[in-house]
Amino acid sequence: MSNIDDRIKILTQQIEKLKKEKREFENLNPAQRLAEVLHKRFCTWNHTDGCSWYYHKWGDTDISQDTDRTKWLDKASAIIRLYPAKEEIDKFLKAIEVL
Ligand SMILES: [Zn+2]
Repeated sequence: MSNIDDRIKILTQQIEKLKKEKREFENLNPAQRLAEVLHKRFCTWNHTDGCSWYYHKWGDTDISQDTDRTKWLDKASAIIRLYPAKEEIDKFLKAIEVL
């Protein structure tokens, strides 16, 4: 039983972590959400020293205008300017998932 209890504990922790990630994603604005998806799908840089994405979080006050996070946000904002309707962005996000 201890083995099962240990597995339940680990899975419960993983579920809580996923719920937290989902809540954080849902609290982002549309451009930030799109930037997250674009970065996750298309960034091919090394995340140790090639891309600074994980060195910053949304809302960091010390974030400069020249970080990889702001670069992906600029790309997302440009896409939203092209397709401003929320339904279009939702379709765009689904299309990225297919890639
Ligand atoms: Zn990256």
